[in-house]
Amino acid sequence: MSKTIIVSNRLPIRIEREDGKLAYKTSEGGLATGLGSIYKEGDNIWIGWPGISLENEEEDEVEKELMNRNMRPVFLTENEVQEFYLGFSNQTLWPAFHYFIHHMRFKEEEWEAYKKANQKFAEAISKWIEPDDTIWVHDYQLLLVPEMLRKQFPNVTIGFFQHIPFPSYEVFRMIPWRKKLLNGVLGADYIGFHTYDDMRHFLSSCHRLAGYSYNRNQILVKNRLVEVDSLPMGIDYGKYADSASSQLAKAKEISYRDSLGPQDLILSMDRLDYSKGIPGRLLAFERFLKEYPEYQGRVSMFLIVVPSRDQVPSYKALKEKVEFLVGHINGKYGTINYVPIHFFYRSFPLDDLSAFYRMCKIAMITPKRDGMNLVCKEYIASRETQDGVLILSEMAGASKELSDALLVNPNDEAQMVLSIKTALEMPVAEQKRRMNIMQKTVQKYTIFQWVDLFIGNLKNLKERQESMA
Ligand code: UDP
Repeated sequence: MSKTIIVSNRLPIRIEREDGKLAYKTSEGGLATGLGSIYKEGDNIWIGWPGISLENEEEDEVEKELMNRNMRPVFLTENEVQEFYLGFSNQTLWPAFHYFIHHMRFKEEEWEAYKKANQKFAEAISKWIEPDDTIWVHDYQLLLVPEMLRKQFPNVTIGFFQHIPFPSYEVFRMIPWRKKLLNGVLGADYIGFHTYDDMRHFLSSCHRLAGYSYNRNQILVKNRLVEVDSLPMGIDYGKYADSASSQLAKAKEISYRDSLGPQDLILSMDRLDYSKGIPGRLLAFERFLKEYPEYQGRVSMFLIVVPSRDQVPSYKALKEKVEFLVGHINGKYGTINYVPIHFFYRSFPLDDLSAFYRMCKIAMITPKRDGMNLVCKEYIASRETQDGVLILSEMAGASKELSDALLVNPNDEAQMVLSIKTALEMPVAEQKRRMNIMQKTVQKYTIFQWVDLFIGNLKNLKERQESMA
């Protein structure tokens, strides 16, 4: 019987040390939820890094425990985490793919570490592969894995999905190892991106940097038909809608609102990342309070920043910048009974998120660049009464599906300022008209539909390849 192997840098689990013992916490992330129906079935497995440095003697214990959960660990050393993960993945590929070219660095030793770590993943996978299996590799940390597997298993079925943007050829070509990266991904049969633009950029780089010709979305790689596609990822709509309409979320909303006062709230919620445009959003809010003083005391920002990669210097600097701006704006516009920005530097569980989604009249999601952005879809799913306004950056993949949001260019401060005013003053009927359309879209294209579509298209392509042979 053939099986499916999911591969990603991180396993859908968190391992924590509690009183000297290891505790296993299942991840509730979107991808883990969507792929749960696959990797938990029969012989299927998920291969990845458990996200924690372990003593040698602990590795056997973890391996055994994960086996029971259909997972197989790839253990990374401290040095691999530094050079492969925090280094090449997050300080070369991440900034390049998000158009932050001034944050990119090109260190040969980190490229070597990236290759070695990809090889480590490929070896871990090859221990479990059988000829009829389907392997689905995820994201930018593992771009070389498809080709590594293809060399060893010429006929195996491989899918690859990139969860972050794919940049224009002009940016991608700056990376010294660009051709090797492209050939790495092209080991897959079916390659997915969130948007049509990402897919076009990838095809154009394959053509101009690696010499492949393509026809529509098809590329011939050594006589093997490879297809590239755009498949925007969705959310588990029911989970967010149900949670937001639960008694618990409603009770929390009432208790938070009681403490907060009567101000309208603008939700800002992201991981700490320069791609998310947090300082730009704060500056737009400051300018809004300055240009429309009648709103001082009447509207507050609810700012959640989830800690992330804080060992990387550019992230540390960003955290300081956000803290400075929050302090500055609160110092300038705050009064005894008015806090312009409520700032939380931590992550919250779903019940709280649902309460926040409920109580914020506006969600302002204005990344400088984002592969998809799921927070905006979760906000939409959580608006039980269908009011509320989404201000969304054109640079988020989600904007391609959500044209009924107030779309803004995150570099256009004046437009962002105006969008806050428009959102606050939008008649409820208009809010509902837009929200209704967006809810229908998000409800239709869920994470489950995305998984089925990807796997279905991959299998269909494999059949066409076989009939061509
Ligand atoms: N999230 C969370 N706790 C928080 C804030 C956010 O679990 O306190 C979740 C949020 O619900 C969403 C995810 O983090 O599912 C962020 O995904 P998104 O695609 O928006 O951004 P990413 O962090 O993947 O770049």
